[in-house]
Amino acid sequence: MAKLTILEFPDPRLRTKAAPVAVFDAALKQLSEDMLETMYAAPGIGLAAPQVGVLKRVIVLDIDREEVKTGRLFMANPEIIEASDEDATYEEGCLSVPDHYSDVVRPAKVTVRYLDRDGNQQDLTCEGLLATCVQHEIDHLDGILFIDHISALKRNMILRKLLKARKEKERDEAEGKPAKDKAKDTEHAL
Ligand SMILES: [Zn+2]
Repeated sequence: MAKLTILEFPDPRLRTKAAPVAVFDAALKQLSEDMLETMYAAPGIGLAAPQVGVLKRVIVLDIDREEVKTGRLFMANPEIIEASDEDATYEEGCLSVPDHYSDVVRPAKVTVRYLDRDGNQQDLTCEGLLATCVQHEIDHLDGILFIDHISALKRNMILRKLLKARKEKERDEAEGKPAKDKAKDTEHAL
């Protein structure tokens, strides 16, 4: 297993539509193991392959909460085949847009159709945090980020702060200062 590097906005690979998985081989199993290891280490509860620079329609999830325990989930070519009219709002964050969070409105309940690691078709009905997470990760496969779902005003604020943080980090590195310890937030990291 190998921990992979998580790409951060504005890397263009995060804006690229990923290709469907056609072959379910050992390399795909290895990718899923590496993605899970990367996600746990981040730490996060969901990760899409484009976030580690692999432009394939693959996502992994593992939610461990009072209300929902999924275990390790791997989905290839996931598709929302049914979505509720009722919406839910959840404060989302993203491992590729670090340290920024915003309320995002999405369908409260969705059914996702996907292929498992052996290429078998599965349907899963998701609610609550799992529904949010699945939709957030599928968005990644189409080059969409959670900041695309919020107001331009809020988005620009986040982008300005991201840019500023990056400049500060580069300056600190140039001056040989140690990296600041980031607060880890597993609640929202998708
Ligand atoms: Zn994300």
